[in-house]
Amino acid sequence: MERKILILPESLASKIAAGEVVQRPASVVKELLENSIDADAKKITVVIKDGGKTFIQVKDDGSGMNEDDAVTSFQRHATSKISTYDDLENIRTLGFRGEALASIAAVSQVELITCTQETDVATKIRIEGVEIKEITKEAFERGTSITVKNLFFNTPGRRNFLKNNTTEFKHVFDVVVRAALSHPEVGVNFISGEETVFNLKPADISDRIRDIFGEKLSDSLIDVKSQSPFIHIKGFVSKPDFSRKTRVEQFFFLNNRYIVSRNLNYAVYQAFEYLLEKGSYPFFIIYIEIDPHKVDVNVHPSKMEVKFEDERSIYHAINSAVRDALFQENRSGVEQHPQITGDEKQRPIISHDFQLTPNEQRYFQLHSRYIIFPVDEGVMIIDQHAAHERILYERAIINFENSNTKSQHLLFPHTVELTTGEISIVESLIPELDALGFQIKIFGKNTVIVEGVPPDIKPGQEATILQEIVDLYKENENNLKLEPRDNLAKSFACKAAIKFGDPINQSEISALVEQLFSTKMPYVCPHGRPVVVKLSLSELGKRFGRI
Ligand code: ADP
Ligand code: MG
Repeated sequence: MERKILILPESLASKIAAGEVVQRPASVVKELLENSIDADAKKITVVIKDGGKTFIQVKDDGSGMNEDDAVTSFQRHATSKISTYDDLENIRTLGFRGEALASIAAVSQVELITCTQETDVATKIRIEGVEIKEITKEAFERGTSITVKNLFFNTPGRRNFLKNNTTEFKHVFDVVVRAALSHPEVGVNFISGEETVFNLKPADISDRIRDIFGEKLSDSLIDVKSQSPFIHIKGFVSKPDFSRKTRVEQFFFLNNRYIVSRNLNYAVYQAFEYLLEKGSYPFFIIYIEIDPHKVDVNVHPSKMEVKFEDERSIYHAINSAVRDALFQENRSGVEQHPQITGDEKQRPIISHDFQLTPNEQRYFQLHSRYIIFPVDEGVMIIDQHAAHERILYERAIINFENSNTKSQHLLFPHTVELTTGEISIVESLIPELDALGFQIKIFGKNTVIVEGVPPDIKPGQEATILQEIVDLYKENENNLKLEPRDNLAKSFACKAAIKFGDPINQSEISALVEQLFSTKMPYVCPHGRPVVVKLSLSELGKRFGRI
């Protein structure tokens, strides 16, 4: 019988394998940069032409190779970086798959010149579509230079998929920037055509960021730092007011390897959640170090995706490191406002049946919407609804953990009719509603009896508040996908807070201002909108033409 199965010739097999590693000029640059870094280079020069389509050269001053290694390096699965399975579990280098040079050579015309410390003459190899064309010797300083010409010259299908030079340049640029950020101690010179795109001196992380992104961005960064026995995190996030409308400038480095992870991105967004408006994203650069045994980088040939042994812990570590950083930043913005403690914090803003602390200083309320508050160096304008929302939100979160809330017992309980779906929401939140100060009994399939409400609820709102909270909870569940407790805290805070347009009296104003500045994040409401706007005397001076 005639055989149908053939073993593919090496020239075809290598093109197929190359497809996984080399998608565009940027993939070549990435692999070559990784090799230079793995070879302990202190200075790397990248030159490209036509977005890298016709010419890519990466030159380093690293360890170099002798002639035997240089020839072998172009074979598939040829690597000096691992030799056993245990090594694969303990990767400390950027490369380890031994397929980059083979893949690049399969689809382009390559010239390698390399020289080690030990040899005084360099090996030069010319290779085209896996075939070695020429090996010669010549003078060259220690290190390696690899020139890749006419990428995909023998795979027209691939070549046709390439985008215009500007787009391909942008991809190469991103790759070089990531490498430069991953190893700031390495000098990186990047030239495109006749133009030097950047020439970065060896630096520490902060200076490298400044050199790449400029003064304005680096001045707006907040330090992120956290250490535990199993994970070290350091890096920077932008201050909330520096956020961008796109996600481009966000970097994670795992053991100095640039990685992409939607989940870890989310850990950072979560930490910003009350600080950013929907649709804006923070700039961040976060370096994570963990034991390589606890992470698998061999998920995809590009090595940008990783699998963590314990992703939840990594998520939480990043989330809380960023939260802490933002919290510190927020605190440092709060000036010398009266800080209040204990029971004062729990006191309702709207006075029902007890006196609030009198305050000697006058403030006043503007159009039943804003509170104008003189401060040393100018004036603060506070959005009364947003301020109260912030207070109630934080109080709710504290009460969920450690309830000591009083409840206003209602003389005449209210009956609330809810849909079956709404009843199940209420049922699932009974402990939290209780912690907020609700006294609730579920009665039959569609009825809830409210016997008590939180002390913050305004007179007249007792009958409707539960329905209002449930409605907003459902809306948040659909639109924002909030976690249940957070959702309840936000829904409660929004509905129980004094409204825009509600008149409040002098002692209520005082209580609102005092309690606002005792919260963790007085400057933003739980939705991320500003609570306070400050006008400095110098700004006022400018407006009046005095400065
Ligand atoms: P990998 O990096 O996964 O080992 P590559 O195909 O990228 O596989 O490279 C093969 C081998 O060639 C490397 O393991 C290394 O020993 C050698 N090599 C490649 N580039 C360089 C370089 N710039 N300097 C020194 N050695 C290099
Ligand atoms: Mg490599």
